Amino acid sequence: MSGMDRLEESLLHLVVETSTNLPPDVRRAMARAVGGEQPDTRSGQALQVIASNIDMATDCEGPICQDTGWPTFLVKTPVGADQMLIEDAIRRAISEATKRGKLRPNSVDSLTGRNSGDNLGPGTPTVHFRQWASGDEIEVRLLLKGGGCENKNIQYSLPMEIPNLGRADRDLDGVRKCLLHAVWQAQGQGCSVGALGVCVGGDRTSGYEHAKLQLFRPLDDVNPDPRLRELEEYIVRTSNALGIGTMGFGGGVTLIGCKVGAINRLPASFFVSVAYDCWAFRRLGVVLDARTGAIRRWLYKDAAPPEKMATREGFPLTGKEITLMPPLQDADVRGLKVGDVVLISGVLHTGRDTVHHFLMTHAPPIDLRGQILYHCGPVVLKDGNDWRMTAAGPTTSSREEPYEADVIGRYGLRAVMGKGGMGAKTLAALKEHGAVYLNAIGGAAQYYARCIEKVEGVDHLEFGLPEAMWHLRVKEFPAIVTMDAHGHSLHADVQAASGEVLKTFAEPVFTGS
Ligand code: SF4
Repeated sequence: MSGMDRLEESLLHLVVETSTNLPPDVRRAMARAVGGEQPDTRSGQALQVIASNIDMATDCEGPICQDTGWPTFLVKTPVGADQMLIEDAIRRAISEATKRGKLRPNSVDSLTGRNSGDNLGPGTPTVHFRQWASGDEIEVRLLLKGGGCENKNIQYSLPMEIPNLGRADRDLDGVRKCLLHAVWQAQGQGCSVGALGVCVGGDRTSGYEHAKLQLFRPLDDVNPDPRLRELEEYIVRTSNALGIGTMGFGGGVTLIGCKVGAINRLPASFFVSVAYDCWAFRRLGVVLDARTGAIRRWLYKDAAPPEKMATREGFPLTGKEITLMPPLQDADVRGLKVGDVVLISGVLHTGRDTVHHFLMTHAPPIDLRGQILYHCGPVVLKDGNDWRMTAAGPTTSSREEPYEADVIGRYGLRAVMGKGGMGAKTLAALKEHGAVYLNAIGGAAQYYARCIEKVEGVDHLEFGLPEAMWHLRVKEFPAIVTMDAHGHSLHADVQAASGEVLKTFAEPVFTGS
């Protein structure tokens, strides 16, 4: 076992492939989603961008999404394998993939906020080891799961009252209600269309872990337990009747998979734990020669190269798009209404969690009057004296809800852009100050990186690369107005309408369990 001279190279290959290339089962599910939505609807347009983005990432070996996620490794080793050596090689592979711009630096000190810069630190990456009987092979599976969908994970403790669905008891029908609610509460914030990994039982910790491990199952496998199989099929079918759609824009496809596992529980506890994953469902695996560490075969991968996902190129234009060129005037934004598609040309400024917190007590480094603040934590590489964005999609905006109304009011922003929408306080500020919320397509990091003509500059690099304020010159950068200056919010409307549909599924379905 001590040779293993190919191990690090094999693991690096696994990390890069996982970040840049979706597995075939996810591609098949996404192809069905694209085919299941009318192309000229908001969800249809978003799915076309997502499909183009998946193709672009594969072609250029770039990250599918700028949030390259939390790495979870599942490693099976023969008896006697040196697990410390394997974990060391995993850490080196992660660090090297980060250096090459295939992973975004995503590991942050929880108390100071300092980014380690190499995706390593206490607790990251997660590596689960198991032993297996195969004497001469090591299996390594990797899941990269982003923060936007991770924030929509949810755990239920039955019995309980579930909004819109009533009492959920300690039985399969109670589990059913939890899972429908899990999809509804996520709306578009976890970058739907999405998938659920579910654990029934366990304690709070093992429940969440087992739920995440369900995401290692291919989306099109068949649950060997007929009760759980029926539940999985029901949840996918019924979730797609809720009308949430891609990015929560409203539509007929919301969920591409549901994988449910069950483990024993204490008599006093009944947890239902849900791991929500987005469409950028990155999961691959390799089987390695245990003597050399060389790759013998891939898991979750076809022999043939993947087919193109997109049936059309990029964002399908209708001719009704509105051009925005910041700095924006009051009339520019008051003329916009929910549902309008805009194409932005000019300079955008990024700002996410650290920038918003900073702006509460410090002036911005530039004059933000009339500007567009983009909630984005890009993947950036130094290119000589310049910077190059390798992935630049939107991040979840709701995290900035406690700050955004103040930031808009104080600094005169005319638009904020991100994904998933914002709450009532921001909506009121948009109306008061004459501003709009623009929803970019979550995860479309390669697509949006191509809309960036130039990185004009950066401020506050000390916040770390994803959190710094980047100034980006863009051309025809598409987004949809989902909250306008007249008090309308598409997010609130879709949430309310899908909540009404959810109520119609309150009656028991799985009885006698
Ligand atoms: S697609 Fe959305 S939820 Fe998924 S990793 Fe990217 S930004 Fe996060």
